[in-house]
Amino acid sequence: YQTLRLILGDQLNASHSWFKKKDKNCLYLIAELRQETDYVRHHVQKVAAFFQAMDNFATALQKAGHQVIHLTLDQTSDYQDLPDLLAQLCKKHKVAHFEYQLPDEYRLRKQLKALSLGKVEITAYETEHFLVPEEEISKLFPANKAIRMESFYRKMRKRFNILMEGDEPVGNRWNFDTENRKKIPASELRNIPQPLIFKNDIRPILDRIKKHKVKTIGQCSDTLLWPTTRQQSLKLLKFFCDYCLSQFGTYQDAMTANSPHSWSLYHSRLSFAMNSKMLSPGDVINKAIKAWQDNPKDISLAQIEGFVRQILGWREYMRGMYWANMPDYANKNELKASNKLPAFFWDGNTRMNCMKQAIDQSLEYAYAHHIQRLMVTGNFCLLTGIAPEQVDEWYLGIYIDAIEWVEMPNTRGMSQFADGGLIASKPYTASGNYIQKMSDYCSGCQYNVKLKTGETACPFNSLYWHFMNRHRKRLENNPRISMLFKGWDKRENAEKQGIIKHANALLKDLNSL
Ligand code: FAD
Ligand code: SF4
Repeated sequence: YQTLRLILGDQLNASHSWFKKKDKNCLYLIAELRQETDYVRHHVQKVAAFFQAMDNFATALQKAGHQVIHLTLDQTSDYQDLPDLLAQLCKKHKVAHFEYQLPDEYRLRKQLKALSLGKVEITAYETEHFLVPEEEISKLFPANKAIRMESFYRKMRKRFNILMEGDEPVGNRWNFDTENRKKIPASELRNIPQPLIFKNDIRPILDRIKKHKVKTIGQCSDTLLWPTTRQQSLKLLKFFCDYCLSQFGTYQDAMTANSPHSWSLYHSRLSFAMNSKMLSPGDVINKAIKAWQDNPKDISLAQIEGFVRQILGWREYMRGMYWANMPDYANKNELKASNKLPAFFWDGNTRMNCMKQAIDQSLEYAYAHHIQRLMVTGNFCLLTGIAPEQVDEWYLGIYIDAIEWVEMPNTRGMSQFADGGLIASKPYTASGNYIQKMSDYCSGCQYNVKLKTGETACPFNSLYWHFMNRHRKRLENNPRISMLFKGWDKRENAEKQGIIKHANALLKDLNSL
């Protein structure tokens, strides 16, 4: 072969210009690698989903007439790492050119940038996945600068002419958050759609994971519910447009424990399909907009805007913030958080019902929706000052969609405020009150959301005030927070001391919560 082309597990983009032409002299490589299964302890469904999707992609490429080698752990486990494997393959196939698509993750980009294969010429290509081209990232996202998602998002709406009428947003408003974000009323619970799930047989992959002693977390059956082909991804997108989009914005922040479909609600669950690049963000946005245009009676503008904002806004923005600030970002710990992640994050064994629901669900499905990640588990870690590297490790491992470029800015930045405000203008903190407002978790909890002190008091309540007081100097000048301190200062001293004392006791023994 003249050319060897590497396709990483999250580069399953069938529309890439590489595949426009068939070339007998070009060999594509798709390989399961120990360096990828081991850089963090992943959820077993996540490893299986990537391996199955890679296998399917290799088969699809072969069917389309390309030359492909698909190597499993059985064939690659003797190689030290990716460069070692590439060097051997270049030698074996007498390759003159090695080509790869730029990885989205710093770790891999660095590894491939440092690659040297003797006389073999090396070329890097764009992945052609994101809406914002690679070379524009540094212009839109200067390093170490706080950039707000909202202004980036409005720029992108104009630039790509999405939901626009001339220079104005459709409906003359950019943001419909006030209409959206409602709790699900008990009477609505039975209307939550049964999620579309797939039944991908992953037994051979599970056997390999076991045989090679790959350490994983979470549960898995013989069939995987996540999409592992482009066809399945498109089916899931259609299901979302048909059954979930009409309520997406309204209930995007809601949480419930009282439905068989509590884990999926009205969320798209497309993050794995997108992050593996089986689906492009452009396709997802266009199909959702078409569904809205075809059904304006069922799907309101607030719903489609809320959805487009997540993908055109948040997703592209997080990628920009990641690249603007790596590698320093991985060490940011502005609040000097250093506590240990409690053991119940790995088994859900806690009396806090909100935490139990979010963690159990994550272990069962490798999935939790945004507000569970941000305002339940993330909020808990923020309030209790868990070391950001431990928080990152948990999020990067457990979720089906967790790849560092999107996991880290969400976790370290948005959720833990470890970047000192590059992403969030203030820490996303909340007491039990918020969780009660957005969910029905509290009614099934051993703790009492109304109490701040005492054995049965909701831990979030005192921990919230402990956090606010420990970081008072930094926070009280923020106009969005100073009001809260005014309220706190008006309380009786004995009450304030009682709350802080209670929180101190909790912080000493987080494992027992
Ligand atoms: P939906 O609710 O249906 O949203 C649609 C799509 O919007 C998602 O598929 C996703 O592509 C995009 N999106 C929404 N919010 C965000 C966001 N904040 N950042 C980037 N894209 C967004 N998302 C990941 O893809 N990988 C991660 O590792 C990840 N880690 C997170 C960690 C924390 C602490 C938090 C708070 C959020 C994290 N997110 C992550 C963002 C978000 O929670 C998930 O994208 C979303 O829950 C995926 O489920 P869904 O596909 O059903 O999303
Ligand atoms: Fe969570 Fe507190 Fe509500 Fe229990 S009472 S579910 S700990 S917010």
